[in-house]
Amino acid sequence: MISIVIPAYNEEENIPVLYERLKKVLDSLEDDYEIIFVDDGSEDGTPEVLREIAEKDKKVKVIRFRRNYGQTAAMYAGFEHAKGDVIITMDADLQNDPEDIPKLLEKMEEGYDIVSGWRKDRKDPFLSRKLPSKIANWIISKVTGVELHDYGCTLKAYRAEIAKRYRLYGDMHRFLPALAKRFGARITEIPVRHHPRLYGRSKYGIGRTVRVILDIFLVKFLNEYITKPLYIFGGAGFFLFLAGSLIELYLTFLKLFTGADIGDRPLLILGVLLILAGIQLISTGVIAELIIRTYYESRGEKPYVIDEKINMED
Ligand code: UDP
Ligand code: MG
Repeated sequence: MISIVIPAYNEEENIPVLYERLKKVLDSLEDDYEIIFVDDGSEDGTPEVLREIAEKDKKVKVIRFRRNYGQTAAMYAGFEHAKGDVIITMDADLQNDPEDIPKLLEKMEEGYDIVSGWRKDRKDPFLSRKLPSKIANWIISKVTGVELHDYGCTLKAYRAEIAKRYRLYGDMHRFLPALAKRFGARITEIPVRHHPRLYGRSKYGIGRTVRVILDIFLVKFLNEYITKPLYIFGGAGFFLFLAGSLIELYLTFLKLFTGADIGDRPLLILGVLLILAGIQLISTGVIAELIIRTYYESRGEKPYVIDEKINMED
């Protein structure tokens, strides 16, 4: 079964058209399907439009938020309620094309866990959208090691167990492929079509770029150091502490053996500073270790994911 998850915030004109086009594509597939619209606290006629469609078509399911929580929260809610084995996310504004869905599914059948859409010929403004996005995609690819051209494209297919694995906060939905790498997910991309927005307005401005940059640091940390924060904090702290100690030893040596004045030397202060910073970082690392353990143990989560077990009965 396939679940389509569609976050929608003030998209009343787009939804009926999208629904008709989606239905045509999905009915032509062999698999069973459901369409989950998540109304993210719309202030226009979106709730009524969705209610009307859902009344006629039981395959259409609607989750309505009390207020606007953002696209990521909407997708998270959709994932939580999805019943399908494969989950496909797309925008409600007709910028993604339902006709690309069979292509995504075909690629999934080759054994991938995530197939990401790549808006090769993107129909958005250059300066405020395409350029920042190009730079961001390049940085994310380099930092995370998951090379994709278009992290920001909502049209993606996920194996359900991967999509449901994450608690998504902030704007993190775009980083799912990078996060999934931690579990050894097989990830690929295919070019998809993209259309200009015909009705309604875009919900984002250039401010999104800053949030994306901040999230990159978080993803890097979550991917590589989440199970060993002491190594990253403590490692840095150790070197600072060592450098500070060497400096102070050197000054002590000078004082004892040459009797030189060391009280007014900037080096003295630098040494003290490095030692203190070092101790601070090491303690932060230890505290982070404790927090991480609580995190894993309270969620009953293991720091590894098993792909398959052979000859092992539970
Ligand atoms: N969206 C949402 N909640 C929000 C903002 C956006 O559910 O707070 C939905 C919106 O309705 C659309 C999708 O997220 O279906 C992408 O938004 P938009 O088209 O404005 O982004 P852009 O294509 O301009 O990057
Ligand atoms: Mg859009």
